[in-house]
Amino acid sequence: PPAHEGILRRQTQRESAARTYARSLPIVPVRARGLTIEGADGRRYLDCLSGAGTLALGHNHPVVLEAIRKVIDSGAPLHVLDLATPVKDAFTTELFATLPREFADNARIQFCGPAGTDAVEAAFKLVRTATGRTGLLTFTGAYHGMTAGALAASGGATDVTVTRLPFPQDYRCPFGTGGERGAELAARWTEHLLDDRKGGVPAPAGMIVEPVQGEGGVHPAPDPWLRRMRRITQDRSIPLIADEVQTGVGRTGAFWAVEHSGVVPDVMVLSKAIGGSLPLAVIVYRAELDLWQPGAHAGTFRGNQLAMAAGAATLAYVRENQLADRAAVLGARMLARLGELRAHHPGIGDVRGRGLMIGMELVDPERAPLPAEAGDDHPAPPPDPALALAVQQECLRRGLIVELGGRHDAVVRLLPPLTLTDEQASAVVDRLADALAAATR
Ligand code: PMP
Repeated sequence: PPAHEGILRRQTQRESAARTYARSLPIVPVRARGLTIEGADGRRYLDCLSGAGTLALGHNHPVVLEAIRKVIDSGAPLHVLDLATPVKDAFTTELFATLPREFADNARIQFCGPAGTDAVEAAFKLVRTATGRTGLLTFTGAYHGMTAGALAASGGATDVTVTRLPFPQDYRCPFGTGGERGAELAARWTEHLLDDRKGGVPAPAGMIVEPVQGEGGVHPAPDPWLRRMRRITQDRSIPLIADEVQTGVGRTGAFWAVEHSGVVPDVMVLSKAIGGSLPLAVIVYRAELDLWQPGAHAGTFRGNQLAMAAGAATLAYVRENQLADRAAVLGARMLARLGELRAHHPGIGDVRGRGLMIGMELVDPERAPLPAEAGDDHPAPPPDPALALAVQQECLRRGLIVELGGRHDAVVRLLPPLTLTDEQASAVVDRLADALAAATR
């Protein structure tokens, strides 16, 4: 239909070349509900991209729409900078009710925004102000956003070579995957970096970690390694920042992903699902760190009342309906079924994830293995981005939208809404299995 073709053509001509989604996913969404998106051409898709993990309740969930309508109908201001409002009060109360008790009991919140990357920058500024130090411990494969500081803290999940980075890169540590031995070596690396007076670095202002690396290719941090990072930072009075922008609000099978390990961070960076599909980003942190001066942090769009209302409704719905537990059960089932596919497809190098944050890494078994990562006893075949792209396109043909990620774009990622039904979960796996078979035929 002309609407579909015309819109796609004009958008791909006018928009920047940096914007690649419209090219790899030629869909013109005009309607959406739950897991389903309908295009201008009348085709329907199961959307496992979910606004990059933003849609905890799927598209246009009735409780979210109702919360938004209620604010509009009440005549409340939609934009109020950071004044106190009933809507903001309700959001903050609901958010604090979901946070780990030991953390929330003594926490402050700073509205940032509107994007996750804004909250990451605010977290950096906060710990630098509180400690008077500058360096930041970051991890290989991390992703924290597209603004300068967040980019500098991102380790290889995105190309940062064109950016002049605002802080030194010698604070980069290995992420603790690669089995028990890999985690041990990674932790020792970090200790050495901090403690070696000759080859090490000056004490940093903080450490930032994703409990599950998302954009980096879906790598869950092992719980013991994360606890070790907590001990390392605590012993040295280094604030620990948990970036839960993608992992939060039930996604990984716990309301917040740090709960799996029991780690209590000093700062939590929150965005995506907390706004119930509208832009919202905050940091929540230990009150003792609240040492910045009045006016030290600003930003015009920190008072989006619709986002706070949609967010509060989402948080409450996830909490009341135990959707984190549901994500754990469904995710485990999907992982198991995807794991079985490995027997038929040597191109599947790995299937991994936590809850409904799932990744399937595609490799080329015909090519020589890459040198093993430190501590990893199993050299893996090299990633196969061409196969991943082919799988994504075959998925699209079968009405399934999946994301690609990882350092080489060779990881097929699933981030379905937590409201997924059993049947929908099966349909997603079935379509992905068909797509794999077609792409490897
Ligand atoms: N941190 C993490 C862990 C993320 O996954 C993302 C976005 N994918 C961000 C930060 C940045 O958020 P935004 O795109 O809203 O700036």
